Amino acid sequence: MSIYSFSQTQTFLQCPRKYQYKYVDKIQEKEFESSPDLILGHSVHATLEWLYNQINVFTIPSKDDLLIKFKDQWDSEVKEATKEKELQLKWQQTLEDYIRRGIHYVANYYDKYSPFAWISVVATEASIIFDLNPPPSGSPSFQEKENKNWIKFRGFIDRLDKEWETFIINDYKTNKNLPPESKEEYREQLTLYGLGVQQNYAKYFKTIKARLHYLHFDLMDEREITPELLTTVTKKYADTIVDIEDKKFHYNMGNKKCFEPKENNYCKYCEYYSLCPLRAHLKFDDEVVGGELWEKTVKWLVDEYVALSQQESQAKNDKELIKILLVEYLEKNNLLKLFWNTHKISASPAESISIIDKDALKKVLLEIWVLDEAMEVDRFKLQKLIKEHTLSLEQLGDTVQKNSNRTLRGGNIT
Ligand code: SF4
Repeated sequence: MSIYSFSQTQTFLQCPRKYQYKYVDKIQEKEFESSPDLILGHSVHATLEWLYNQINVFTIPSKDDLLIKFKDQWDSEVKEATKEKELQLKWQQTLEDYIRRGIHYVANYYDKYSPFAWISVVATEASIIFDLNPPPSGSPSFQEKENKNWIKFRGFIDRLDKEWETFIINDYKTNKNLPPESKEEYREQLTLYGLGVQQNYAKYFKTIKARLHYLHFDLMDEREITPELLTTVTKKYADTIVDIEDKKFHYNMGNKKCFEPKENNYCKYCEYYSLCPLRAHLKFDDEVVGGELWEKTVKWLVDEYVALSQQESQAKNDKELIKILLVEYLEKNNLLKLFWNTHKISASPAESISIIDKDALKKVLLEIWVLDEAMEVDRFKLQKLIKEHTLSLEQLGDTVQKNSNRTLRGGNIT
């Protein structure tokens, strides 16, 4: 089994097909391009790494030293990135805006945490590899390592501290958007790294905490990585990796559709959209189809189909409304037929029943020997059970037949 990373599993969770293009087919993304955002993030990380490396050898740099370090780092990264082409700036921002942000992050951080006297730094910018599902006890046998359930994971910790009997995993964020509290990805990432820390340093601490430093907002989000949390998050990612391995197996056996495309908010930035069946047509030229009798372009047909579907559902609603009004009129005037010019409407009284107690009803039907006649197997419910893997086609044998067709749904382009 390969070594997995957090971004790899996130790609799969976001869209299995993107994962396939990137990690299974290994299709090259467009050439890596640096950007002011990346340079800012990297320069701030490098500056804070330098700060804590100094602290670790018992030197406390001054705030001015730290700001000089940031500026030097920024200048050298910009110089490197602009050797061949200009940096792309977005939304009318200037490089000065980025420098100002960096200075603000570093200066605020320094003010908040100086004089750093109590801190004990275990590692900065540390790369870790760990087992996502370690064996219950003892060393793993060769067989266990070969086993599909033996999952290796790798990660990168910005800084690992020791505060008395607690180890703290720190992560710096320089984005201008504060993720909503419900967004768990970052916390899950640090929780997984907590597992790596536990496997490497267990005897030196009693508790582990994760701290996310949102530098743009001067906010620190801390949470303890409890054994329960560790179990839940580890299980989620171990299950995801087993799912990936399972799909890889089927893909290699010839099922080229098993990594299904999953539309999401990031599709418009996806490097693989021109390969993806959900997005590729956006870049197609318009084509004529339908032969000589009904020659139309595909794009015209798409618009027409959506327009007709919308008219169809509007007509259905209007028809229901008209029915209510006409039934009211018929009843009020005690009539059974209505006429206008060439059309007429007949109203025959109809009755229907609704079920109040399904289980009791079944008992009654069984007692009077008509249960089979009254119960009909619902094909849509059957399809749902198969889709949810509660039932398999194999279990149903020759009693059903699988048919292929397509459902077309109209919508707006996002
Ligand atoms: S365009 Fe969207 S659905 Fe298609 S591969 Fe990319 S992320 Fe997945």
